[in-house]
Amino acid sequence: MIQEISVNTARRNEFKEITGEIQKAVSKGRLENGLCVVFVKHTTAGITINENADSSVRADILKRLTELVPLDAGYQHSEENSDAHIKASLMGFSVSVPVEKGRLLLGTWQGIYFCEFDGPRKRSLLVKLIQSP
Ligand code: ZN
Repeated sequence: MIQEISVNTARRNEFKEITGEIQKAVSKGRLENGLCVVFVKHTTAGITINENADSSVRADILKRLTELVPLDAGYQHSEENSDAHIKASLMGFSVSVPVEKGRLLLGTWQGIYFCEFDGPRKRSLLVKLIQSP
């Protein structure tokens, strides 16, 4: 079973926590033990797992990504969003989280973040639940 989840972003660059939405999808899909795969269907947004307690970690990651990949650096792509494509590839387009007893087995300080780099937009991602044999 695949579930599609919508994410509305508010800024051009944004890390939006979606851990709650993903846990809801696990509960809705009644997965007890297995693997939850979350896949982003875009080329200018990605997904990652990182610190969920101190928001300055996300701010630092975004700041450093912007320094590494500036908005304008003589890119060939004509849509003026090459930085977004590069940053999305750096973050990646899927995460996999083990599930036990119906709960995502994230670490205490881990959250799942949708990484917007060309917002604000309405985005969508897929959640695929794989039952352990
Ligand atoms: Zn583009």
